[in-house]
Amino acid sequence: MSPVDAARGLAEELLFPDADLIDAAPVVPRRYLDAIAEAGLYHLPDNRAEAARVIESLAGGSLVTTFVWMQHHSTVRAVAAAGGDLADEWLDALRSGRQRSGIAYAALRRPGPPPATAELSPAGDGSWLLCGFAPWVTGWGLVDVVLAGARRRNEVVWFLLDAKCTVGQEARRVALAALNASATVRLAWDRLVVPPQRLVGVEAYDDWRRRDLMGMASNGYLAVGVAARCAVLLESPTLDAEVDALRRRLDRSKPSDVASARADASLLAVRAAAAVVAAGGGKSVEAGATAARLMREATFLLVFGQTTEIRARQTAELGL
Ligand SMILES: Cc1cc2nc3c(=O)[nH]c(=O)nc-3n(C[C@H](O)[C@H](O)[C@H](O)COP(=O)(O)OP(=O)(O)OC[C@H]3O[C@@H](n4cnc5c(N)ncnc54)[C@H](O)[C@@H]3O)c2cc1C
Repeated sequence: MSPVDAARGLAEELLFPDADLIDAAPVVPRRYLDAIAEAGLYHLPDNRAEAARVIESLAGGSLVTTFVWMQHHSTVRAVAAAGGDLADEWLDALRSGRQRSGIAYAALRRPGPPPATAELSPAGDGSWLLCGFAPWVTGWGLVDVVLAGARRRNEVVWFLLDAKCTVGQEARRVALAALNASATVRLAWDRLVVPPQRLVGVEAYDDWRRRDLMGMASNGYLAVGVAARCAVLLESPTLDAEVDALRRRLDRSKPSDVASARADASLLAVRAAAAVVAAGGGKSVEAGATAARLMREATFLLVFGQTTEIRARQTAELGL
């Protein structure tokens, strides 16, 4: 079975039927992530369009489950690119989903002083000291490791950290109004000692920002998945055609236009979810209602992965 068919099967037969229950759980029950691993989807296809169809299919099943799973792939790519002993030790386990990963680096996009910094330890043994924080780290308790990024002058230093509280690393759960089951924490580091074997790499900050730009498209497919689910629920060919147009824009996007496509995808998800709420009448806002969940998910997609460019486009399109 192709990865896309596997994702569609999981979404229709397992994730969507249970999505409201998963959303209401304190943490995504592990069996849903296990099912994704068993379907071989902890290793995304290399083909960009195929990977996109996997992401949007799963997102239209259960966004919160997909969101936890989605973090993993940056780590797989980073460890594969690092090669050497790190890849020998981790790559197979990550690709099979036996070891699962979160990420802690989006705040490095913030303008101003870096939220996390790294320096070589004065001990001279090749270990590193990590200081600062990551304001959002999803999947705590569900992942084994975290790919963390920290600034050193004009570089980003990448580490593969164990996802557990330890001397120098503290996690505090953030209560969320949407996707709360994602078990998102604020992670703080106070001279955390990272051994040299857990160094993934060092990269120029500007190179990372260029690379990071195209990650926006992947995030856009989460919104496409939610909007596509709304189109199915509304049985609306008009909405379906709009979703398809956005899907094509994201598929074709380049660094120069990916932010606008990503912003428009999240706005479409908001409009689509609002239509599901309106069409359902009062029962849309009963606790546990699918319509209310989709609306909260769409709200979340406005701000998750938001950049200055995306925010500017969103507020302009909303008439502000
Ligand atoms: C629930 C949740 C879970 C997340 N999980 C993860 C995770 O697991 N790992 C991870 O790495 N990240 C995660 N993120 C981070 C995600 O990618 C961020 O939403 C994104 O990076 C924006 O972060 P922010 O809203 O905290 O930005 P903020 O820094 O609060 O900024 C808000 C907006 O204002 C803009 N802005 C801020 N300062 C300026 C300025 N001086 N000039 C111009 N514009 C400015 C920003 O670009 C952004 O658009 C998560 C976020 C959320 C909401």
